[in-house]
Amino acid sequence: AGSASASTVRQVKLERESELRVEVANDTPLRLRLLTGTAEIFGTELPPEIWLNFPPRLKFAVFTWYGATIEMDGATELDYIADETPMVSYVNVHAILEGRRSRAKASSSNDYDSSQGPRVIVVGPTDSGKSTLSRMLLSWATKQGWKPTFVDLDIGQGSITIPGCIAATPIELPIDPVEGIPLDMPLVYFYGHTTPSNNVDLYKVLAKELARMLERQFTGNAESRAAGMVINTMGWIEGVGYELLLHAIDIFNANVILVLGQEKLWSMLKDVLKNKPNVDVVKLQKSGGVVSRNAKVRQKTRSYRIKEYFYGLVNDLSPHSNIANFSDLAVYRIGGGPQAPRSALPIGAEPAADPTRLVPVSINRDLLHVILAVSFAKEPDEIISSNVAGFIYITDVDIQRKKITYLGPSAGDLPSKYLIVGTLTWLET
Ligand code: ATP
Repeated sequence: AGSASASTVRQVKLERESELRVEVANDTPLRLRLLTGTAEIFGTELPPEIWLNFPPRLKFAVFTWYGATIEMDGATELDYIADETPMVSYVNVHAILEGRRSRAKASSSNDYDSSQGPRVIVVGPTDSGKSTLSRMLLSWATKQGWKPTFVDLDIGQGSITIPGCIAATPIELPIDPVEGIPLDMPLVYFYGHTTPSNNVDLYKVLAKELARMLERQFTGNAESRAAGMVINTMGWIEGVGYELLLHAIDIFNANVILVLGQEKLWSMLKDVLKNKPNVDVVKLQKSGGVVSRNAKVRQKTRSYRIKEYFYGLVNDLSPHSNIANFSDLAVYRIGGGPQAPRSALPIGAEPAADPTRLVPVSINRDLLHVILAVSFAKEPDEIISSNVAGFIYITDVDIQRKKITYLGPSAGDLPSKYLIVGTLTWLET
């Protein structure tokens, strides 16, 4: 059973195949280290005897295959030991994926199909542990020298960049339990909203664009093609959410579908994919350690993610405040707005909103506190199909002087004048 503990150093002994589940306190960090044995956090081994610092609110588990002693220093919201975990089934999946990677590597790279490693997609309801399982599979793969590609399609609680984006990045080292996914050079597409229902068509267009781009990269890189992909998805699995899962399976050519914590989804997918002999639909148990998050917590997490983008995880980055003239920037929104004026339509017809239409946005105070993406596009008509360089946050709009003040991760000119706006906002606190 869990207990809130006082801020003292204490030791915890873990038996084989058990885990210490920790929720760090809301306003104080926690120090933790491995004293004896071996242990890992979501697939990444702990270095012996080195203190690791965990920021407030982080939730994680220290799992051991053969037994370990852990030392903790600091108060926690909750910590307890669990000896029932689905880890053995997860590592069995990993072993099967390893076999496929090796076979892909051994096959002639002229044969495009057989030299393709596993493309795993992790699906399931919210709070079933999808991101965590993705992370373990990636870290275990890197430990064996592979560089798998991580694709995150979760625009609400993604782990590659800020919310409102879909993104991909190669994973070359076990993922750091504190820092998370390294932000070196991710391939990021800006959707601009935190739920797909704002513009389902746009979401599909961007996912397809990302898939196309990765396919192209794989063509020239046998190593990453053999390592394959791990794709994390959203927890929306009903109705349009289900349709989007099928869409993702299709466009990324996923061949291993891991269904976490829901029998119904597993049987639906198994049925719908039964004519595809090369696609495996695997049912996996959800871990009892997964922490549920309500709408308010999710909103807060999104806000922290944006803060982390500009200020770093522990305020270790300093963003720059920059000023630009209105005329130096061109802001666009994607979708919305009628496609044609009513007068141009047949009598009685309603103007339909074109979901992927590019709409110029005039700069005014509506942009205050808005997060904009900086596109790599060179022309406006390339905006939809282009990935983004990064994000800026509007802190002031001076109508009189026609100047805009924004926060960016670095000083100097933006890589492009083309900016994309959605509904993503942030209140700096
Ligand atoms: P969503 O679909 O809502 O994004 P998800 O299915 O991806 O959620 P995760 O993000 O993997 O779920 O897990 C939710 C939270 O539970 C995370 O904070 C994660 O660190 C925590 N968690 C997962 N597994 C464990 C565990 N075994 N012990 C402790 N915490 C855990």
